[in-house]
Amino acid sequence: MPEEQPPPTHWLFGDQLGPHFLDPARGGPHRNAPLLMIESRSVFRRRRFHRAKAHLVLSAMRHRAAELGDRVRYVKADTYRQGLREAVGEDRVTVRHPTSRTALDLVRGLPSVRVLPARGFLVTHDEFRTWADGRGTKSLRQEDFYRWVRQTHDLLMDGDRPAGGKWNLDHDNREPPPRGATDLGVPAPYRPRESDIDAEVRDDLDRWAREGDVEFVGEDGPRVFPATRREALAALTRFVEHRLATFGAHEDAVLAKDPTMSHSLLSASLNLGLLDPAECVERAEARWRSGDAPLNSVEGFVRQVAGWREYVWHVYWHFDAEYRTSNVLRHHEPLPDWFTDLAPDGTGANCLSHTLEQVRATGWTHHIPRLMVLGSFALQRGWQPEAVTDWFHRSFVDGYDWVMVPNVVGMSQYADGGRMTTKPYTSGGAYIDRMSDLCGPCRYKPSVRVGEDACPFTAGYWNLLHRHRDRFERNARMTRAVRGLDRLSDLEALLEQERERRD
Ligand code: SF4
Repeated sequence: MPEEQPPPTHWLFGDQLGPHFLDPARGGPHRNAPLLMIESRSVFRRRRFHRAKAHLVLSAMRHRAAELGDRVRYVKADTYRQGLREAVGEDRVTVRHPTSRTALDLVRGLPSVRVLPARGFLVTHDEFRTWADGRGTKSLRQEDFYRWVRQTHDLLMDGDRPAGGKWNLDHDNREPPPRGATDLGVPAPYRPRESDIDAEVRDDLDRWAREGDVEFVGEDGPRVFPATRREALAALTRFVEHRLATFGAHEDAVLAKDPTMSHSLLSASLNLGLLDPAECVERAEARWRSGDAPLNSVEGFVRQVAGWREYVWHVYWHFDAEYRTSNVLRHHEPLPDWFTDLAPDGTGANCLSHTLEQVRATGWTHHIPRLMVLGSFALQRGWQPEAVTDWFHRSFVDGYDWVMVPNVVGMSQYADGGRMTTKPYTSGGAYIDRMSDLCGPCRYKPSVRVGEDACPFTAGYWNLLHRHRDRFERNARMTRAVRGLDRLSDLEALLEQERERRD
């Protein structure tokens, strides 16, 4: 009998931390494969990350290494290449399909590395390709994809019909905040307790910053997102049992004193690979089936995880590498320092200042402040979309290349001219006023377009429509809005004002 070869070392990236990445039955490594983790300092040197994000990623990696014990070799190196050479030399290595194009190019370029199928998503690359090819020339609409995922994964289905008879319950999930409320009055989200590993990571970050090696932005303590599988499961349980039922109705609303409202806050754990999306949606569905959560809340959550998250992952790979530099609106303005420094005093707009403060303190806000405050402002000001994408990637604890390229280039900045969404996501101050309590204390007034009280979002909205009138007029979903420009008697004054505006 020939002697059996030992299995090759399996390399785990920092966003492949859950046990499902190691499952041999789902394309994973041999169950006895030795494991390798590489902490690459150059990743942090290249960009100014939020400290909370750097801390979370390193804490999660080191916690995972501590759990794996002798099975893993943990290497701290300058680059991935150097770490790999130091750990295994030229020996054979396997790795799961990484989550960024840069990392995929790196591992594919290393002859000793074999790339195993991606994990951490419900839909495989092959399944998505089959779905996309089957659509012929039809566009890759998110809503169609989401319904197909529901059917093929038997999620919230009654036979071949959607549970409750409707696929889309957005109509029930767009309520403004409860009148007069300053918070939603729901149990607080799970918060982890820090360990010695967290303190050690913080010391390292302090040292790197002191040495002038890396630069961070934002605050990082105490850690508010899970760094281990055990913590992530506790956060999932806390959400499905205590917060899911109240999630749906106000998921698009914003309350200044209640930043988390009833949101799951699970994206950071999902994107580190600590949770499997399948377990998240299955547990949410079970709460509806047992009568413990209403359908609109459960559907809203399933839509986020099985619909939007999956869709974004697959379009990231479906579009070519040049997609990230799309800029059909020819926006070239740089991001101002107060924005990149997360300095809330840099603007008089209460919604913007409030949101920046939240990002500074935690590296997280829910999707509406991201989209309708930060992203909308960037779009209206004509900031360069690739720089906006990079900013979101660096500043959010759950931001990764695959997350932010489609979300920012496509959805938020409309830089792809509508390959992902049918119209730009932006609004005047009236939307923010309806959906939040942020306008009341603001020095501007959402209904005012011109003058000292002019709301930057209201004026910015009309200014954007005016700048791109030709393009937007040809979009059936924008025609009415663009024609509204003709009814503005103060358009010239508004345009003049916006040329001068700095904050
Ligand atoms: Fe934001 Fe305008 Fe409302 Fe002020 S008035 S909070 S700038 S939307």
